[in-house]
Amino acid sequence: MKTQMTIPPLNPVNVALFVGLPAAALILVPLWGIYQGYDSFQWLWALAFLYLNGMSITGGYHRLWAHRAYEAHPALKWFFAFWGAGALQNSILIWASDHRRHHRHVDDNEQDPYSAGRGLWFSHMGWMLRKYKGNEPDFSNAKDLLRDPIVVWQDKHYVALTVLMNVGLPLLLGIWHGDIIGTVLLVGLFRLVVNHHVTFFINSLAHYWGSRPYTDSNSARDNGFLAFLTYGEGYHNYHHIFQTDYRNGIRWWQWDPTKWMIALCSKVGLTTNLNRVSDFKIQRAMLDTAFTRARTKMAEAEGSESLINMLEREYQLFTDFINQWRALQTERYERTKEHLSGALEEKKHNLQHKWEHAALHARLESLEYSLKMQRKRLGLLMDQFHLHQAELA
Ligand SMILES: [Zn+2]
Ligand SMILES: [Zn+2]
Repeated sequence: MKTQMTIPPLNPVNVALFVGLPAAALILVPLWGIYQGYDSFQWLWALAFLYLNGMSITGGYHRLWAHRAYEAHPALKWFFAFWGAGALQNSILIWASDHRRHHRHVDDNEQDPYSAGRGLWFSHMGWMLRKYKGNEPDFSNAKDLLRDPIVVWQDKHYVALTVLMNVGLPLLLGIWHGDIIGTVLLVGLFRLVVNHHVTFFINSLAHYWGSRPYTDSNSARDNGFLAFLTYGEGYHNYHHIFQTDYRNGIRWWQWDPTKWMIALCSKVGLTTNLNRVSDFKIQRAMLDTAFTRARTKMAEAEGSESLINMLEREYQLFTDFINQWRALQTERYERTKEHLSGALEEKKHNLQHKWEHAALHARLESLEYSLKMQRKRLGLLMDQFHLHQAELA
């Protein structure tokens, strides 16, 4: 059934910011480049600002405030509050509240403020240009943020802050450098527009283009190229299933400078309680997705009964592993409770606790390994299936 939708009115401030500024940049930045030119000082400062703004959004607005994936020292929070305001993407409060709604109602065209289901343009920036119902402020999902004095202060002084960071600082840099117009154009305007669009890619392209290794239940994708442009946020399929993990790219080699920054800050006490999802849960999600896919493929094909039987046997094993893991979690919880209540005498108790902890840990690791091996077997099974299909064709 088609629903009759009336087009809401334009949001003039946002149209000026998100259409006016890029249009100005498109004309003025190359013109100045042709007639006056930019030097390495200006390019380097533009790059520095790009990363300072970008990573204050990804590390601060996103992973710290919207998802509480770790805790940060007030000094770092102030830093994010200033440089994040410089990204001109609204205050922490509004950004994080919108983003929590995006996760909670992902792909729901009514309630996800930048639902990918409404098209690439809408999710990229169309959602900001009109007064859509989905982005009326509603902070009922951000009560914790309303208790954070830095968030509240930044929200109150947001306009002044963003002018200071986008006009004031580039102006000062320009005076210092001796070329005010060129510096304001490159470090102020050009950097701002580039940062806007790479961040917007996370809502648009990262919901269209890439793979879905962890879950098929929403449109978010993993995409290494987008991760490179978005300070590590391109591993969006992982992020949508495990949003409280401080990492988006979980492999050491996956480009995620935001995760590296958070981890580095933890070495000097600027960040604490970094939340990591256990390897077992990650493997479980990947296998579950792979099983569902394999089942659908095999069900559609003919003459693959023996392979289907093998698949079902593997799936039974997978369920057994998960049950064993659940039992282990309960055991671990009971042991910790016992330890805390001090059921045994002190010294003996500590030793026994350590021994039990090590034993449980070893069992958990062996279960994780079992899942990894099973994923390999499933891959081989699918290779066999594809070969079989090719022979039939
Ligand atoms: Zn998303
Ligand atoms: Zn998120």
